[in-house]
Order: sequence, then C-alpha cells, then structure tokens
Amino acid sequence: VADTVEDALLMAKRGAEAPARNAVDRLVSKGDGGLKLNKQDKPVVLVLGTGWGAHAAVKVIDTDQYEVVCVSPRNHFIFTPMLPSTAVGTIEFRSLLEPIRNSNPFATYFEATCDQIDHEKKIARCTSAVAFMDGRRPQFEIEYDTLVVAVGEQPATFGVPGVVDNAFFMKEITDAVKLRRRTQEVFELAALPGTSEEDRRRLLQFVVVGGGPTGVEFAGTFSDFLKADLSRKYPDLMPFVKVTLLQNAQSILTTFSAPLQAQAIRNFEATGIDVRLGVRVTAVERDFMTLKTKDGEEQKLPYGVCVWSTGNAARPMVRNLVASIPTQAELNKGANPASVKLAVDPYLRVIGARDIIALGDCSRLWGEPLPPTAQVAGQQGAYAARLINRGFQVNEGGLNVPPPIRVDPNASVSRTDVDAALRLQPIDIPRMAAQERLSELDIMAFNTNDSTFTQAPPGVEYYRKPFEFLSLGIMAYVGNEKALVSAEVLDSTFNIAGSLAFLLWRSVYITKQVSFRNRVLILFDWVKARVFGRDLSQF
Ligand code: FAD
Repeated sequence: VADTVEDALLMAKRGAEAPARNAVDRLVSKGDGGLKLNKQDKPVVLVLGTGWGAHAAVKVIDTDQYEVVCVSPRNHFIFTPMLPSTAVGTIEFRSLLEPIRNSNPFATYFEATCDQIDHEKKIARCTSAVAFMDGRRPQFEIEYDTLVVAVGEQPATFGVPGVVDNAFFMKEITDAVKLRRRTQEVFELAALPGTSEEDRRRLLQFVVVGGGPTGVEFAGTFSDFLKADLSRKYPDLMPFVKVTLLQNAQSILTTFSAPLQAQAIRNFEATGIDVRLGVRVTAVERDFMTLKTKDGEEQKLPYGVCVWSTGNAARPMVRNLVASIPTQAELNKGANPASVKLAVDPYLRVIGARDIIALGDCSRLWGEPLPPTAQVAGQQGAYAARLINRGFQVNEGGLNVPPPIRVDPNASVSRTDVDAALRLQPIDIPRMAAQERLSELDIMAFNTNDSTFTQAPPGVEYYRKPFEFLSLGIMAYVGNEKALVSAEVLDSTFNIAGSLAFLLWRSVYITKQVSFRNRVLILFDWVKARVFGRDLSQF
C-alpha cells in the first residue's frame, strides 16, 4: 500500500516489469567454503528484516537505481496487530502474511539470519535459516554500500527462570500456531474420562502475563473464543475454565488515558477475566508459576497455558553491533544489555557509524525516543527508502546536518523543477543541535500560490527533511466486540471506548492491510468465524 503518489508510481512501474532474476546465481564461492554475493554494478542496499520497517523500505526502494538485498530468517511480513486473532482462529494465519518476494519482486531475498556486521569493512555475515537434510546451514557474506537495520526485538523474559521452556510468546506466526494447538490440546486432555478435577482446573487455567496491548488483546480475544465457541463444544468443562491477566504495574494499557484503562478493567471483569495488578512472576515451572505480590507475599499459581507478553529486548546482533561502534557503546552506557538500541539521528543514521540506517524497534531516535510500534517502524521504513531513492548519502550518522543541496538561483528553473526539489528536499530546518548554524544560512522560500520565490538569496540551500512521526492514534481490542481508541484530532485528544471503537478498530485494520489480497482474506475470515464459528480441529 503506497503512502504517497511517488511510491505508488514506483510500485506500478515495477508491477509492469519482468520478475526478478534467480538469487542463487548471484552467490559465488569465496574460496574458504563460504559464499559471497556477486556484487552488481549498482550500489547495494542491504535491508535486514522483513517486519514493519524493512517491509516498508523494501516496498518503496527504487530497484532501478539500487541492488536491493533483503536478509531475514522469515520470508514474509506479518500484520502483528491482528496476531492474537490468529491464535484463536478468528483469522487464519496466512491471511496476515505477505511474502516478501511479493512486496518487491526485484529485490533479492535470502532466508537467513545476519549474525554479525563488520561496519568498517561494510560486510554482513549471514547464516541460512533453513538447513540441508544433513543439518548444514550455509554461511555467506554480503558487501553493502548502505545498510538498513530493521531487525526489531525479541520477547523480553527479564531472566525469569522457566519462561522460555514453559510459556508461549505472541511475536511470530509460529507462536500463534503453537498456542492455538496447545489450547486445543488442554481442552482435549481435560475432556478425557480419567482426568481428575484438580488436573482439569489446572489445565484450563489460562494465564496471560503482561497488561500491555498484546497481552490485553490476547486475553480479550481468548475470552470471545471461550464464550462463542469453546463453551458450545465443551459445556461440561466451562466451570473449570479461568482466564487470569497478571500485571506488574497498578493498571493495564498504561499508554491510554486513566478513564480508558479503567474501562478496559471493567470490561474484563464483566467478561469474567481475573485481572491481578501489582503482581510479579518470579518463576514459571511446568505446571505452576510463582508470583510475588506487592506486599512481598509469594504465591503458587497452577496453570495449563501461560502466554508471556511483557515487552521486548535487544537481539544479540544489535547488542554486538552497538558494542562494536564506540559512539553507540557510549550512548548506551549504563543501559541494561536487554534494553540496548541503535541510537539514530533525525535522518535515522546510526550515530558514529558510516552508511548505516537503523529503524523500528531496534533503534532509538536520539533525544526524542518514539514508542516501539508498527506505526513508527512503517513510517521510518518508507522515509528511509525515499531518502535513499533521492540519492541521500548516508555518510556518518551524528548530530550534524547533511550537506545541503545547492541550487543556482540564476539558472532558469521551471515550476516542475522547483516542485520536485521542494518535494524531494523539503526546506524544513531540522530540529536539532545545529539550529544556530542553520539560522545563518539563506533558506529559499517558494510561494506555491504564485509560483515565485519570495526571497532570492545568493545561494539557495535546500535541506532534507528529518524524520517526523505522524501519530495516527492508538487502539486496543478488549474483547466482547469492544475496543479503546485514542487519537489526537486538531490539538485535542479524542477517546472512545466500546462498540463504536470496535467498529473503528476493524475498519482501520482492514484499510491498513498491506495488500488487497490480505483485505479480502481477512473479511472472508471474519464472516466465516461469525457464520460457522471458529475452527476447533487440532493438527
Ligand atoms: P519487526 O516487525 O519485529 O521485524 C523484525 C524483522 O527482522 C523480522 O522479519 C525478523 O524475522 C527479522 N530479523 C530478526 N533477527 C534478524 C537477523 N539477525 N538478521 C536479519 N533479520 C532478522 N504496533 C502498533 O503500532 N499497533 C499495534 O496494534 C500493535 N500490535 C502488536 C501486536 C503484537 C502481537 C505484536 C507482537 C506487536 C504489536 N505491535 C503493534 C508492535 C509492532 O509489531 C512492532 O513495533 C513492529 O513490528 C516493529 O517493527 P520492526 O520492523 O522494528 O520489527
């Protein structure tokens, strides 16, 4: 889905052209058993990831100008806000995915993990994410001219023992697949003739740890599944079922206003979800977890399924990259290793490194941190691609302004040229440390009403526009066909909760799908779930 006419034209042009060459032909032996991407004549833009940020970048980037190579262990984009719906079968898994090869058939994709970046030699070292029958995973290197790091983060466990082995996460499609299967399994186990009442009660105790948007949306979606489908198929088991939401803080959905937070808690109470605030999980054993209340009391909570959704932590590759760039190590000094991020300047350049852009959850806009959301990552990905398309030299990231584009005021320039220049290199003055230096410079203003220059300075300098986040508001589904929506409209905050917010939630997510195909599939899944109920078959 194009954000701008410029992006749309680029995509339309690409759609009319021939499909990409076979990427395998482009890997050559390095002589030491490894492989190396055969560099083409165009500059190589290497994009790491296929999530919100990378997908937006790969889609918009101009493959006529650049050799675009994308490396990610997952060959598809996931529309994460609706992932909880797939874990209960409201939406089918594939309806939320877009294969990255569809997003831009002219980009070369490798299903691999980037393990290490040598930022001085400008080389990325990668390992295949898929193995041969004998377990071999090929390794290879890619030399890049510009690197876009959009690898996101991994679920945070805060070192709580047993989480990785016993809990389910809600991050990838595979997590939703496992969770859906386990939910079916515990119901079938509880339905067996010899299962004791105690085991039934434990198996059917569903615990969601984390009261952020993901945990809340899963709890809400799961309670719909219970009410609409499981209660009909397993009516005798319903007295044993319990859904509990554990939250460390004193409220849930803390990014929403206090009245909306209270509304979410009321909604959960009405649907029978037990919300426990001020509770910390200290261990997750196979059958029970240990909790610590705010009074320091320790409790054991037996459970059948635990969904762990307590935020994110840095990936090892990002931690290593931060450690290898002295300025980054300095900027992250004192931070917990799990919360390390690549510090970027207003042009998303990694500060202290050459030719690296970082965006999305793995990065932090220096001086003005943004929330780790899909909205931010998607906007940053498209912004970075447009910068690169316009020949932006990434150079060294830092709090310096990149060289301005000089335009000779005596040369005759047409309206189209000026429009193009303004659009390509808008003259907004970056809001950064260099303000003083900039104020001494002549900035030319173009009057769009009468197509004249309002000032004719001796030299005209256009500055590239730094990244600016446009917040489209926040939303969360809380179950029972109710949602919360909070958006800024004309300088005032507009909050709604309930069924109207649910309709808005659905309409926004259907329009925000990245392809027409996904839109059709999701609409079809909604109708199917409403008419026939969610599918309970287990495989
Ligand atoms: P990601 O989308 O996480 O993508 C990272 C990519 O990098 C993946 O393709 C991954 O496979 C790849 N990768 C990982 N390691 C490597 C490596 N070593 N080498 C190469 N590639 C690698 N945000 C909202 O704004 N609204 C919502 O409603 C919302 N709901 C959410 C619901 C859920 C269940 C989840 C999990 C998240 C939700 N988010 C929401 C947050 C949003 O999904 C993230 O902020 C967003 O995905 C961040 O985008 P990203 O591109 O930085 O990273």
